[in-house]
Order: sequence, then C-alpha cells, then structure tokens
Amino acid sequence: MSEAENRPTNFIRQIIDADLASGKHTNIQTRFPPEPNGFLHIGHAKAICLSFGIAQDYNGLCNLRFDDTNPEKEDIDYVHAIEKDVKWLGFEWSGDVRYSSNYFDQLHAFAVELIEKELAFVCFLNGDEMREYRGTLNKPGKNSPYRDTSVDENLALFEKMRKGEFKEGECSLRAKIDMTSSFMCMRDPIIYRVRFAHHHQTGDKWCIYPMYDFTHCLSDAIEGITHSICTLEFQDNRRLYDWVIDNLSIKSKPHQYEFSRLNLEYTLMSKRKLNTLVDEKLVDGWDDPRMPTIAGFRRRGYTPASMREFAKRIGVTKMENTVEMGVLEACIREDLNDNAPRAMAVLDPIKLVIENYPTDKTESLTVKNHPNDESQGTRIVPFSRELYIEAEDFREEANKKYKRLVIDKAVRLRGAYVVTATRCDKDEQGNVTTVYCNYLDDTLGKNPTDGTKPKGVIHWVDVDKSLDATVRLYDRLFTVANPASADDFHRVMNPESLISLTKVKVEPSLANAQPEIAFQFERQGYFCLDNDIKTAGELVFNRTVGLRDTWAKIAK
Ligand code: ATP
Ligand code: MG
Repeated sequence: MSEAENRPTNFIRQIIDADLASGKHTNIQTRFPPEPNGFLHIGHAKAICLSFGIAQDYNGLCNLRFDDTNPEKEDIDYVHAIEKDVKWLGFEWSGDVRYSSNYFDQLHAFAVELIEKELAFVCFLNGDEMREYRGTLNKPGKNSPYRDTSVDENLALFEKMRKGEFKEGECSLRAKIDMTSSFMCMRDPIIYRVRFAHHHQTGDKWCIYPMYDFTHCLSDAIEGITHSICTLEFQDNRRLYDWVIDNLSIKSKPHQYEFSRLNLEYTLMSKRKLNTLVDEKLVDGWDDPRMPTIAGFRRRGYTPASMREFAKRIGVTKMENTVEMGVLEACIREDLNDNAPRAMAVLDPIKLVIENYPTDKTESLTVKNHPNDESQGTRIVPFSRELYIEAEDFREEANKKYKRLVIDKAVRLRGAYVVTATRCDKDEQGNVTTVYCNYLDDTLGKNPTDGTKPKGVIHWVDVDKSLDATVRLYDRLFTVANPASADDFHRVMNPESLISLTKVKVEPSLANAQPEIAFQFERQGYFCLDNDIKTAGELVFNRTVGLRDTWAKIAK
C-alpha cells in the first residue's frame, strides 16, 4: 500500500478534502489545545493523532497551544509533561509552544471592542442570581438589570476590574447575546472574571482572566487555524465560537469540528478523577503503569507506534462508544511480538539440578534474540549444572495435556539440551524446591537419537550467573468495564492490579536492559525496565502486556 492509501479516512478529512478542492483553503492549520492541569491520557492521544496526523498528511502545520485560562488549577510541571508526551508520540508542533496567555493583551482589547459595540457589559449579579436569571432548558432567561449600562460606564467598570478594584465574584464581563436562546451557552455568557491568582506564564500581571469560550476561538483566529477539532461536548458552544469571531474585527475565520471522545473499558478518562487517584496515592503518580496516561503507558513499555496504531484502528466519528481494552492490547502485542527481543526470566523459581552434567563446567550458549528476525542477532546465555525453572513448569505426575517437566518425562530447555526428570525434593509444606534430572548431551539444536520425545520447551536461567530482579505484574485498575458509572469508583478498584514478585531470576544479559524498552520474557509476556528514579540501578521490570488476552477468556 502506498502512504496515501494507508491514510485513515474520516468525516473530518473529507471536509478538509472538500475545502482544498473548492479552494476555501490552500493550507491546513490545526492545533492541539491541552489545559495544563494534569497529564495527558489516551483520549488526548486520540486527539493528538487526529490533529497532528492531519497536519502531517496534508503538508500542513499543527500548533501546540496550552489553554491556560485557569491559573489556580494549572502547573508548569504539567506543561513540561505534556510537551514530552506529544514528542514521544512522534509529533512535532509548528514553531514555539504557544499559550492562550500569549494573547491576553489582544483578548483584553477584543473585550473592549465588544463593549464599544454594545455587545458586552459588566454585570454585578452574584452566582445565585445569575443562575436564577439564566433560566433552564425549558424556561427562557431574563435580562440582567446591568445589561443596559452605557458604553462609557462599562469601559470604566471593566478597567476597574482590570486594576483589581473589585473582589472575586463581585462582577464579571458578559457578552450581550440572547437570554432566550435555546442554547444555554448563548444566554449572555461570562467572558471575563476576576481571579487574584498567580499565573505560571504571566505572573501577577492580570487579575482578570478570559473564559474558555472567549479565548479559544480568538486564539484559533490569531493563529490562523483553519480546522479547530475538538470533542462533542463543545458542539453547542460552536454557536458562541462563531458569534465571537463574527462580531470582532478579525479577518481569519476558523471553524470548529467535533468528534466523539474516546472511552476505554476498565479505566477512567476524566482528568479530575485521575487526579484523585494520584492525590489519594491510590497509584504511584500520574505515570503509574496502571494509569491510562501517556506517561503511564510509556513506563509500562508501550511504544509510540502502538498508540498511533490504536488511534488509527478506533477511527474518528461522532458516535459515542466505549472501546474494549483488548483493542489497545492487541496493538502493543502485535508490535512487540514483531519487534521485542526475547530473554529468559524465571518469575517463581525452583532449582533444577542436572545430575549427569559436570560440576565445574559452564557453557556459553548462543541463542537468537528473535525467532523470526535475524537482524536482531544473538546473545550468549550461560548454562551449567544448576538452573532455575518456574515452579509451575514441573509436576511429579500429570496428564498428557501438561507439556512441561514431569518425572520420567523429557522436555527441552529453551536454546539448550533435552532433560528427563528423575526425582524431586520438597519442603515441609510439600512444595517442590529442587528437581533432579539427566540431560542428553547430543541434543543442542538437535532432536534426541535415542527415541526420547521431549513434551515441550521450558525456559530457565543459570543459578550462578542469573541476576535478582523484581517483576511487577500489572492488571486493570478497575474490576468493572465502566468504573465512571459506579457511584464511587473506589469501590470497584481491582485489589490485584499490581502484584510484585521479588524473587525473580533473570538471565545476565538483562543487566543491559534500558528503561521503557520491552523484552518478551519467553512464555511469560512482555516486560520493560522501570523508568522511575526510585528504582534506578535495580532490575525492576514492569509487565507491559501478557502474551495472550486472558480477559477475553474470562469475559466468555
Ligand atoms: P478531561 O475531560 O479528561 O479532563 P479535557 O477535555 O478537560 O479532558 P483538555 O486538556 O482540555 O482536557 O483536552 C485537550 C484536547 O483533548 C481537547 O481538544 C479535547 O477535546 C481532547 N480530549 C480530551 N479528552 C478526550 C478524549 N477522551 N478523547 C478524545 N479527545 C479528548
Ligand atoms: Mg478541557
């Protein structure tokens, strides 16, 4: 398939195609406008892939603009985390990072212009009164008693607001539109309010801050955005978006298009709720590998390509729906199956002693890093008389379905010899601690010639040369598919979302593992070294995803 054929198609791209064909636009300019009040989640990844992906495919540009009009909730650390996530996903924004706050002077001037046109007024109704005057969906609103204040007086009052002469909540600047509109957002919405808050970009310069609906459309216009793409909850607000643009002296006419947000099963997508998980220390920060944040997925070993592929598979529509976790997991599993190097790790070790192997010998076996990808080369794995194998890979007796080690039966040790178990030792509780076996010395890379039929292949590591490691088995954070609909999401948290295995033994080559880069631990799943500063220098591996979709089976 050519690159063009491989492109996604969706209703927004069809609109762009039409706009280019009709000559309405010759260049495409999009933007991604996060609020720096939390980390980006996978829903944002969908929005990023959409707006940046369109810019890429149409030789256009996409701006990264922080929508920073709520200084109390925002933080510069979030700004940095968001920049990192967008880059990590593989996208480049046009020019410098932008901030809505870059335009506060211009926005203030536009507000003055609205006052001068008798399209905005300073209102002294308090919150309760404002609500009462607004009416409801079934009941029209009433005009504010301050609606007909003269232009000069409004200009003076707005200037007093700017100078900090009114208290927070004492007054606000409102657009004068239509208190009977069937769109609530058109009932004289607030466009500026008083907030004595320090701002991460503008410091203490302002004590009045513009509202989102006023800021967003004008920032789009100032930046020459052609297609302003956002989620469906802004559909009604498009009336206000257009009203502001149409009533001000700005040439550029951006248009807003809405698509349905991503909902993903077994997780939450609201920044407010994710923030609660972090604040209450129910997870290890925004980048906890169980979080649906981009930083969490990165720490868990997801690749940027797998997340872009996910965005492509789910598509872009106006229909509300919830995507199964299996769709996301399939994307990372397919990527890592093709690309992740293999390694051996024993998560729950017992000893395997090869009684007929010399006591003082260690062999350096050469094994492939990837079964189908020669370009990944080979590595050396040490082999000697005492190995570790998984406890679950041995049984004293078993039926034919059990394709692992059983007394008097043979298995192949991955990349090494065929062994036949002879007996075992147990502790006081009856748990097997050591298995004894004999090996066939002419079976390296060859089938036995004496008629022995190995039942399967098991993984192992050398007792002497293996390294101690911790493995974190991550699972879904919630036990129900839609935790957002639970009365209290605390009650549906999965108590087994993290199981730490601390007695893991891994092959020595894993000393060179790099954070975030996943391996397939043979027969166990995909795992990557943790990237957290707290575990630096230790071998702590996070499970990215299992080899198979075990939840699909449970669901059936
Ligand atoms: P949340 O509702 O999770 O708190 P938000 O909408 O407040 O998110 P913003 O930082 O304002 O977060 O979002 C930036 C952009 O990402 C917006 O254009 C928004 O439409 C889009 N976006 C947010 N959540 C999703 C989602 N679940 N799916 C797709 N796009 C999303
Ligand atoms: Mg928002």
